[in-house]
Amino acid sequence: MRYPTKYDSFVGLEIHVQLTTESKIFCGCRNRFGDEPNTNVCPVCMGLPGSLPSLNQEAMSKAYLVAKALHCDLADTCLFERKNYFYPDLPKNYQISQFAKPLGTNGWIDIVVDGVTKRVRIHECHLEEDAGKMIHAGDMSLVDYNRTGTPLLEIVTEPDLNLGEEAEILIHELRRIVRYLGVSDGNMDEGSMRCDANVSVNTKGAGLGRKVEVKNLNSSRFVRLSLNYEIDRQTEILEDGGTVVQETRLWNENRDQTIVMRSKENANDYRYFPEPDLPPFRTTPEFLADLETRIVELPLDRRVRLVSTLGISQTQAEVIGEEKANADYFEKVLEYGADGPTVATWMTGDVQKLLNRTGQSAAESPLTPERFAELLTLMAEGKIHGKIAKTILELVFEKNKNPRVIMAEQGLEQMNDSGELAKLVSQVLVDNPVAVEQIKAGDTKPMGFLMGQVMKASGGRAEPGMVQKMLKEHLG
Ligand code: ZN
Ligand code: MN
Repeated sequence: MRYPTKYDSFVGLEIHVQLTTESKIFCGCRNRFGDEPNTNVCPVCMGLPGSLPSLNQEAMSKAYLVAKALHCDLADTCLFERKNYFYPDLPKNYQISQFAKPLGTNGWIDIVVDGVTKRVRIHECHLEEDAGKMIHAGDMSLVDYNRTGTPLLEIVTEPDLNLGEEAEILIHELRRIVRYLGVSDGNMDEGSMRCDANVSVNTKGAGLGRKVEVKNLNSSRFVRLSLNYEIDRQTEILEDGGTVVQETRLWNENRDQTIVMRSKENANDYRYFPEPDLPPFRTTPEFLADLETRIVELPLDRRVRLVSTLGISQTQAEVIGEEKANADYFEKVLEYGADGPTVATWMTGDVQKLLNRTGQSAAESPLTPERFAELLTLMAEGKIHGKIAKTILELVFEKNKNPRVIMAEQGLEQMNDSGELAKLVSQVLVDNPVAVEQIKAGDTKPMGFLMGQVMKASGGRAEPGMVQKMLKEHLG
């Protein structure tokens, strides 16, 4: 990662997160992505005269839950305001949002940059309604109002980030958080998470520079690319003795650069005023108690705990901790007495391969946590070795049965009986005189071959360590 030397760069983010609720924020219309355009609409979300909004409590709960997870001070009373602007995707000509009293303020989120934890302050979280979606096709523009009124949580950070990479990491961490909390799918491809950013560059130590806004970033990669582009652009202007113009820019993904959208003179004046049709929202003890029951261990805390208390590697913790359901599954397996590092190795290796093949998640696969632990127990007890364990694992997926049952049914139990093994070894030595001679003459190469012959004769069940020891004893 590059760090500017003569200059400081500052990046703040405004991230919009669509909340997954059954219905929209102020009406009963279905809140769902991908439906036939303009089918989930009604007089309220279309802003028809005389219609009145009523607040979706579930949207409010989910918004507060995120604010709580981001360590914000939660407002005991918050207000809705009208943010006025004219655009075809906004049928009411105003967006109901929060301005003077947002629901959460003064929070923070921790991110890990190059192995170092960095705390980024959260200025505020506020709840608002999404606008419709414009579709531009040639010289025609269409609008889909299904999205109008989708509950939208806006999270505003302080300008505590310094580079595009850090912004990208923050977005990934926030995505994990909202998914862990079950309040959003955080899917940037479908617009469930969208990002605007402000960037400024200034002489080192001189504080914030003149900020430029970069809008409508719809992938974390574009966030990184556009911010680094902006930092470079502004640095060059300062290097040349120029002044950065305060303006709003857009990322042009075809040209890999930001372009001017509007200058400050044309900036919007939103004329906020209180929404007269919605009373202020007041939290109750029940509402706050409900949040307590819904809060979960945050993804970063969980990754740290998995590494520090269960001894698994950072990379394994990242894979396992990416989704809450997977991390839960992992810890369930451990509840049956399995050992953390062993489960992690299997889970991120052979188990993951099978899951990829079947397209299932661990939790919905035939490999229940109990079966997983049983498989590892069979190995620990010396009943099967690693290779047989892999065979049994595949059979668990295929037959949906317990590993112990499969082992018994298929006769896969490891051969540990030294008498039986000795017989197999002697037979193999008799059958392969050439190899035996070679080894006795000092060429150890055929050792692997003989080993393979014994394993084959045992149907793969011989305990490899014992076989090796016996061969060595015979051949010196
Ligand atoms: Zn509606
Ligand atoms: Mn907003």
